[in-house]
Amino acid sequence: MTTEPTEPTEPTVRRSSLSPATIAVAAGRPRREQGGPVNPPVVLSSTYVSRGVQEPGELLYTRMDTETWHPFEEALATLEGATEPGIVFGSGMAAIAAVFSFVAAGGKVVLPRHAYQVTLGFADDLAARYGVEVVRVDVADTDQVLAALDGADLLLIESPTNPMLEVADLPVLLAAARAQGVLTAVDNTFATPLGQQPLTLGADVVVHSVTKYLAGHSDVVLGAVVTNDPDLAAKVRAYRTLHGAIAGPWEVWLALRGLRTLALRVERSQANAAEIARRLAEHPLVEEVRHPSLPTDPGHERAARTMTGFGAILGLRPRGGREAADAVVEAVELWVPATSLGGVESSLERRRRFATESHTVPEDLLRLSVGIEDVEDLWADLDRALRTTVSG
Ligand SMILES: *Cc1c(COP(=O)(O)O)cnc(C)c1O
Repeated sequence: MTTEPTEPTEPTVRRSSLSPATIAVAAGRPRREQGGPVNPPVVLSSTYVSRGVQEPGELLYTRMDTETWHPFEEALATLEGATEPGIVFGSGMAAIAAVFSFVAAGGKVVLPRHAYQVTLGFADDLAARYGVEVVRVDVADTDQVLAALDGADLLLIESPTNPMLEVADLPVLLAAARAQGVLTAVDNTFATPLGQQPLTLGADVVVHSVTKYLAGHSDVVLGAVVTNDPDLAAKVRAYRTLHGAIAGPWEVWLALRGLRTLALRVERSQANAAEIARRLAEHPLVEEVRHPSLPTDPGHERAARTMTGFGAILGLRPRGGREAADAVVEAVELWVPATSLGGVESSLERRRRFATESHTVPEDLLRLSVGIEDVEDLWADLDRALRTTVSG
């Protein structure tokens, strides 16, 4: 199946020397023609006029390929520094399922012990149904990860991890895995391509929940796979066609629209997160705050070395345990009590309210997704909510 955009676009900016903030705005635009649109159109068509043998690049049927995917796939790949176009999916989990398809029955997978719950659940399902060996590791413990690689088929990493925000030494882990012939995938949802480019650091595959920062407005569910390897890209495309977890054209168009402001949103939310983390660290009603921006955070030095910025997800444990954590969620008025993350609006939840959350995650841990609101308004609301936990 072809990977070439069939809609004429501006000459590719992949492997671009432009800065990411510029790429997010400039990539995936239609060719500049007099009277032409500056944004790509949404094409709603399940099928294409077709007879006889298909020419390369000819569209046939929308489950296989459709032109409204291409500008987003082009823009995301350029942001990740990839040589192949990205491959968009109907959700982040659909993209992750495609990556797991590289592991055969009886194979071995190495995963973070703290990671997106459904990713861990998917691996457990592979273990139960296909005898896949699943090894969960502390990604911050480089020796432990290296020791687990022996005989592995896939190393799937999150860094920073969900929801504990541990930071992995990606360059070291990815190089070691490559040397042992272990396929590597990095879920780059938390860091975004502005925070780190895993392909550049040595990963074979990057996966995204586009639902989060890339689309950025909590209005679509989408995923994507990005790779430099044409064979892997062809396999992922074939997987998408076979399994059918495809993205709708409207959603992809919205994701591209969201992507245009990625740099502004990430800059603002990271700055807000670092400021809130700094204030929480001094707050009398806070037991622990986790954010790699804090000099005392275990991941600080590593993140400072391998990432641009520290992301905008915080871990917060109020004094008073689980009841206090629940009270904070009840008391906030501006922060939205909700799961998910990466939207313009700030949100929070207590992670262990889900029975499936890893039991090594503290019961009283709140995961905060810091948005782009005014930091003083966010702080006033959070500080007031923390104070209700003692005043009752
Ligand atoms: C949300 C999320 C996913 C799953 O993505 P969906 O779009 O919800 O299917 C995977 N990984 C991480 C880190 C996430 O935050």
